[in-house]
Amino acid sequence: MLIVGPPGSGKGTQAKRIGETFGIPDVSTGDIFRHNIRTETPLGVQVKAIVDAGDYVPDELTNAIVTDRLMEDDAANGFLLDGYPRTVDQVAYLDDLLERDGRPLEAVIRLVADQEEIIARLTRRAEEQGRADDSVDAIRHRQEVYSRETAPLVEIYRDRGLLVDVDGVGTPDEVGDRIADALASRGIGEADVEAAS
Ligand code: ADP
Repeated sequence: MLIVGPPGSGKGTQAKRIGETFGIPDVSTGDIFRHNIRTETPLGVQVKAIVDAGDYVPDELTNAIVTDRLMEDDAANGFLLDGYPRTVDQVAYLDDLLERDGRPLEAVIRLVADQEEIIARLTRRAEEQGRADDSVDAIRHRQEVYSRETAPLVEIYRDRGLLVDVDGVGTPDEVGDRIADALASRGIGEADVEAAS
């Protein structure tokens, strides 16, 4: 599964919950980059300026990281990607990867929230967590990049019948329940996971 939505839509929070519910890893490319930046790995050093500015890391690099992560044992029964794919080229890359593996996408969860709510959340997160890319300029820039590069992906997945729209405004529990209901109505439930494992 994938989870998509603009920065500040609550993807990270919900991705963790979904991962726990289904017993699958929630793979956040943003978290992977931030971890590498914090621990000053060669990858982290390479991408720090890009991530801090709110720009996208080059596809080649991002694709390679996702490929490696999805090959790990814990992803054998499924996975939830948060923050990937983010460009049309990444969509094509992921399609090839999953086709080679013979495991198609089952759902693309989209969290919907309006711009005002999002800016308010990100400003709060900036105060609480001090993420370098949560400055006012970087927040605005990330929203612009999202609208240009990533919003079009929604139509691609809608055309494939995979899109699951969920209202992202509410408490984490409320939104989490909505996601669970929306997945269940598509026949994706916790029982599937138990049956598969
Ligand atoms: P947000 O929730 O604010 O969108 P993320 O944690 O998902 O933030 O990502 C933070 C940053 O990591 C992005 O602004 C970008 O620089 C980089 N990044 C994450 N995923 C990708 C991706 N799929 N392609 C390119 N860059 C990415």
